[in-house]
Amino acid sequence: MPSDKARILYMVVPCYNEEEVLGETARRLKAKYEQLIAENLLSEASRIVFVNDGSKDRTWQMITELHQSEPQYFSGINLAHNAGHQNAVLAGLMTVKDHCDMAITMDADLQDDINTIDEMVKKYYEGNQVVYGVRNARDTDTFFKRFTAESFYKLMQCMGADVVYNHADYRLMSRRVLEELANFREVHLFLRGMVPLIGFQSCNVYYARSERFAGESKYPLKKMLHFAMNGILSFSTKPLKLITAAGCVLTLMSIFALLWSLIVMLAGHGEMRCSGTLCSIWLAGGLQLIALGIIGEYIGKIYEEVKARPRYIIADVLNQSDEAASDSQK
Ligand code: UDP
Ligand code: MG
Repeated sequence: MPSDKARILYMVVPCYNEEEVLGETARRLKAKYEQLIAENLLSEASRIVFVNDGSKDRTWQMITELHQSEPQYFSGINLAHNAGHQNAVLAGLMTVKDHCDMAITMDADLQDDINTIDEMVKKYYEGNQVVYGVRNARDTDTFFKRFTAESFYKLMQCMGADVVYNHADYRLMSRRVLEELANFREVHLFLRGMVPLIGFQSCNVYYARSERFAGESKYPLKKMLHFAMNGILSFSTKPLKLITAAGCVLTLMSIFALLWSLIVMLAGHGEMRCSGTLCSIWLAGGLQLIALGIIGEYIGKIYEEVKARPRYIIADVLNQSDEAASDSQK
């Protein structure tokens, strides 16, 4: 509970072509803010910040209208191009971090339960610096989505990355945590792996994930696979170690096979046989190519990290207290 005064919460909501859901999301979030402000859990300086991630539809126009009609609730950030979900979230967080006591990131499509915000905020007042929103049911997801998502969490944990099982990017972070997050300079973002690295007192809150309110997923299979691959390559070097281990096993196996053939030949039971040779060459060749490919992926990542290009470029910021802060770059 707030001891002296209610704190400032900024919601950061990334939006890519979300004209179909934005109105409803804004309406529900505003109602939630009214309730929390009335309960003295939030300060009136709290804001809902929509980050337009290079949408091609009316999303930015709608955000501008929301800000113009109710600047005491709605702010907006317009990115210069489509930077991707993770970058859009970071752009929002880094822009709001000096204005808020805590920030919650949430998707625009109302899949994350807005009523969980109450619990998140209460957990913050209890001293938690990070509150992870964790899905306790995936009934509304398709079998394919559920299977791929759950396999991904398990694979990440096998690879040694510290991710919270069934937590995506619905989370509360305190200003202190946001200041630490600002020190992570990597270009390939994987926020759900980065935030646990920061540490501090944290806890989980559980919610049932609903279906997308309207519109289509902006994460097709290709983007999802790319995201999963990025998560593994950015947070684990285990694939490289697996290559070494596989190399050792294969080398030992071939030495044994060679010795066995020699023994058979010397014992006069036959010539050195080549029946398996062709298969072995193909197998070894294939494994080598896979190994080179994995190493290449890491080198590609290093190449992009070394260039250190901006992760996002902000074109406009709509904020009542900070109208001048536009045309800034990160
Ligand atoms: N999103 C974004 N930039 C992108 C793709 C998605 O900002 O390039 C936003 C999108 O508007 C939504 C959130 O990221 O608020 C999650 O996307 P979506 O709900 O389509 O993903 P799914 O829930 O299907 O995995
Ligand atoms: Mg969604």
